[in-house]
Amino acid sequence: MLAILAIGPLMRMAALRYAVPPGMPSRTDCEACGAPLGLTRPWPALGPAARCGRCRARAGPPPGTVELALLAAVVLLALVGPSGGALPALAWWLGWTIPAVFVDLAVHRLPDRLTLPAAAGTWLLLGVAALDAEPGHWLRAVIGGAGLALFFASTTLLLGRRGFGLGDAKLALSVGALLGWYGWPALLLGLLLAFGLSALVSLALLATRRARWSTHLPFGPFLLLGTVGALALAL
Ligand SMILES: [Zn+2]
Repeated sequence: MLAILAIGPLMRMAALRYAVPPGMPSRTDCEACGAPLGLTRPWPALGPAARCGRCRARAGPPPGTVELALLAAVVLLALVGPSGGALPALAWWLGWTIPAVFVDLAVHRLPDRLTLPAAAGTWLLLGVAALDAEPGHWLRAVIGGAGLALFFASTTLLLGRRGFGLGDAKLALSVGALLGWYGWPALLLGLLLAFGLSALVSLALLATRRARWSTHLPFGPFLLLGTVGALALAL
């Protein structure tokens, strides 16, 4: 509960700040009235209600969604528990990836300012955990992270806009490392879940005519759900 109260506004601020088109400066004020939004100005925009304190306009991710995601993350961390030593890395990864995914949902882009710290911290914390674990964990994490990122990046090079974005590749650096740490079956399951869910959602959107064949869905949310699902199921 305390974690949600403390971290929720930080995540909301990150999601709000970077939900701008590429190349644009990050957002620091209300879109409707220009009131500054930030931790020094505790406008209600950073709370679960997600409304500007001055003009009541909606700001950032929909009401309650960030808080719900954070609650799910806390439950997952409690389920995973300290076994295996990767808990700090997982907590760090969730802290950066949840706001990144909200940005992806809003503007279809995974900002470097969120995915790169997620990857760096995940690798560092897994490295620290490796001092105290079987060497196989670290080896799989390195191969998983680097391999998955290379795979995603190569689809960008080969297929251009039809492939994955480079933002997805940067997120894959940490996703592959985390899942690899927990074992090859976890990595495989995570990818199957991510691709399976994205296919299901695409078909559902096509069937309800809310998307066309050419529509490009953001993949970040599926990477997050696939990773979380694989970790929860692998326990
Ligand atoms: Zn406002």
